[in-house]
Amino acid sequence: QAGVDWGRVRADFPLLYRSVHDHPLVYFDNANTSQKPSAVIEAMDGYYRRFNANVSRAVHQLGSEATEAYEASRKKLAGLLNVRADELVLCSGTTFAINLVAYSWALPRLKPGDVILVSRMEHHANIVPWQLVAERTGATIRVAEINDDGTLDLDALYAAMTPEVKLLAVAHVSNLLGTVNPVRAICREARKRGVVTVVDGSQAVPHRRIDLAAIGCDFYAFTGHKMCGPTGTGALWARREHLQAMPPFIGGGEMIREVSFEGTVFNDPPHKFEAGTPNIAGFVGLGAAVDYLQALGLERIEAREAELLAHLNEELARVDGLRIFGHAPDKAAVVSFLVEGAHAHDLATLLDLEGVAIRSGQHCAHPLLQFYGVAATCRASLAFYNTHEEIDAFVAALRKVRGLLG
Ligand code: PMP
Repeated sequence: QAGVDWGRVRADFPLLYRSVHDHPLVYFDNANTSQKPSAVIEAMDGYYRRFNANVSRAVHQLGSEATEAYEASRKKLAGLLNVRADELVLCSGTTFAINLVAYSWALPRLKPGDVILVSRMEHHANIVPWQLVAERTGATIRVAEINDDGTLDLDALYAAMTPEVKLLAVAHVSNLLGTVNPVRAICREARKRGVVTVVDGSQAVPHRRIDLAAIGCDFYAFTGHKMCGPTGTGALWARREHLQAMPPFIGGGEMIREVSFEGTVFNDPPHKFEAGTPNIAGFVGLGAAVDYLQALGLERIEAREAELLAHLNEELARVDGLRIFGHAPDKAAVVSFLVEGAHAHDLATLLDLEGVAIRSGQHCAHPLLQFYGVAATCRASLAFYNTHEEIDAFVAALRKVRGLLG
């Protein structure tokens, strides 16, 4: 692609230059967590070296610098997603974000007879919180099924949105299959029927330009560590009217305006939902990650990853005895597969000895594996900093390992 020297981009990621078991590292576990560019590592280091202080509490210089940097990250995230900064609740990641919706929005509202609609391809983080809410409210869970190619069955999904359905929980991009769901159309249909939508954007935000104003969901959850940011960072975007109506999930300092033993006046959203000292260093790092992704351009990242995926698919098509899961026409650079006669963990363990890091197991998506009738898969997931040479090295290692196991 014109305009980007991907070799130089790769050089921004120091970890990618280490070796593993005497082989150059091939890191294909990006859907699990991404690597971090020097700019992110240095931003966190700079916070601790130069302006480490708590946010919002102190009037001294360090305190105001820390607060400014923390709030600047909220603004950067808002710019990335085309939303208002005061509609973004900063938290530890997708898991916390979805639980916040479950406990603050769903728990006080749902009652027996209500239905929570959840797609077959959800990560456990977008299933288990709804089961906990269902147990406590008497609501039930309904499953929106998928087609064999790993796409959502949209007719079935829309038919399942009966008047009892109060909430739909759906992934923007599947972590196991890479399927990109048409969330804009889905949210439009849901809205027509009065169904509130929770979109899990964990696997989407790092790979495409996301415009939340265009998607039209009610809630959007994502995690910082998959988008070149530090672990323990993420956010929930919610429509302002929801944030105003929702009670706080966690109580403590920072989220209040006034406390007496007779009662407490809560701060305005989003601070109402951010009790306690946050992961300040993490959000300083996440702000740097957003700057980094924006400078590279999400459009260019998407095109680069599509190119890498096309190469990977081409190479894998020539390997005998592979079963690939998910053939959606719109797919992120994620490939789940099994080798005939080999256990997923054995395969991943042998690949690790060749320096290749992929994930094996259940990928926190048991119901999806049940659909395909398998206990585990291997998953190779790419990022823009991966290379065509790494794809060739991975496929060569896969052939070698398959020979050993076969
Ligand atoms: N949803 C999806 C689709 C994911 O891929 C992940 C991360 N594996 C999560 C939710 C959970 O994210 P976190 O562990 O950062 O809370």
